[in-house]
Amino acid sequence: MKKFDCIVIGGGMIGAASAVSLAQLGLTVAVVEKFAPKSFLAEQALDLRVSAISLASQQLLMQLEAWQQIHDWRICPYQRLAVWEHELAYTEFNATDIEQPYLGHIIENRLIQLALWQQFNQHPNITLFCPEALVSFSDNTQTNTIDVELTTQQLSARLLIGADGANSKVRTLANIGLTGWDYQQSAMLINVETPIFQDNITWQHFLPTGPVAFLPLAGKSDLGGYASLVWYHHRDKIKQLVALPNTQLAKAIEIHFPQRLGEIKVLNKGAFSLTRRHANQYYHHKVVLLGDAAHTINPMAGQGVNLGFKDVLALQTVIAEAIAHGESWSSEQVLARYEKKRRSDNLVMMTAMDALYQAFSHPSIAMKLLRNTAFFMSNKLTPVKNKVLKHACGID
Ligand SMILES: Cc1cc2nc3c(=O)[nH]c(=O)nc-3n(C[C@H](O)[C@H](O)[C@H](O)COP(=O)(O)OP(=O)(O)OC[C@H]3O[C@@H](n4cnc5c(N)ncnc54)[C@H](O)[C@@H]3O)c2cc1C
Repeated sequence: MKKFDCIVIGGGMIGAASAVSLAQLGLTVAVVEKFAPKSFLAEQALDLRVSAISLASQQLLMQLEAWQQIHDWRICPYQRLAVWEHELAYTEFNATDIEQPYLGHIIENRLIQLALWQQFNQHPNITLFCPEALVSFSDNTQTNTIDVELTTQQLSARLLIGADGANSKVRTLANIGLTGWDYQQSAMLINVETPIFQDNITWQHFLPTGPVAFLPLAGKSDLGGYASLVWYHHRDKIKQLVALPNTQLAKAIEIHFPQRLGEIKVLNKGAFSLTRRHANQYYHHKVVLLGDAAHTINPMAGQGVNLGFKDVLALQTVIAEAIAHGESWSSEQVLARYEKKRRSDNLVMMTAMDALYQAFSHPSIAMKLLRNTAFFMSNKLTPVKNKVLKHACGID
């Protein structure tokens, strides 16, 4: 049986970042992943799965030495973020208000994962097992380790990290319960060519049926540029929309999205159901959960993976402190410190997203007036607006 300090189940953005962060502390790490991401080629079409990466996440990716590679591949910075329901309550946040060059970058998830996987090669203490999958694990009380059975081999470690996403098998096998629910809405992601080229802005327009959003993407197209559109709507409606031929979908977009989008060409599309999940505990014995395995949030404000990166940094910090103080770094006391650092922050963000979702799902005229007054006032109250902005960027 091969022995490691840590075994990370899931080599997605969060698992890969966690592996590199723990290898930086000198620990030996095994990463177990079912599917290898496709290599990057400059001529490849833009992926459908993209994320708005905050300044705090950028700092972590820099610390993990993955940022420069992502930057060299393709990346789209944005300086402004606009939200509105009624045009009179249009609110715009600007990076200059918080003395930053950008508010964040829109990046393809796969490129973040790939750049972190490249870092595996820079750390001889990381071993990648791919394609491989978790089957089961058990506590070994004699050796004080956790024995992990994969599809074709067995590994053992002092700590097992579940970074295997929203339907985490690690979480289920560790008997860690969940609270959560499915939202009535789904999200449709649509990659389009747009007449807008690198407008440096991402926007979200709230409609009675759910928000529609625009995220700029890297590159220049025949029409101008590229963008990722997000269309939130009732699940059944999204099912219908995703089944439309691209030309008809483009027409539907022109009707429902704000006019500022202009005439677009649909390139690619896909639908995702929205769920909220929060693990009742982030650790149990020698098992710890990170990222979507611990919490899945409504993506309305693009915070999911950013919260996961904060988990990665928190776990690295508590383990580094334990090593520095000669403590047992994989003990439950240390894992409890990780949970303490992260649970309330994740909960606040999840609750804020739910409040936003509920407020904008409410059809009454009074609620609409209240929402727009809130937007209008937030535009006037600069200190409040800047505080919210700093928190969203992860730099408060
Ligand atoms: C529509 C939509 C838009 C979003 N937009 C944003 C955004 O703009 N900004 C943002 O911050 N977040 C966004 N998110 C959230 C973000 O995508 C997730 O938070 C993020 O992908 C979670 O990363 P993860 O590594 O924790 O999990 P995942 O990305 O799910 O990775 C888990 C990995 O584990 C592997 N795996 C699973 N089970 C096993 C097993 N048994 N054995 C081995 N490997 C296994 C999987 O193959 C996968 O590679 C969005 C989400 C959605 C649905």
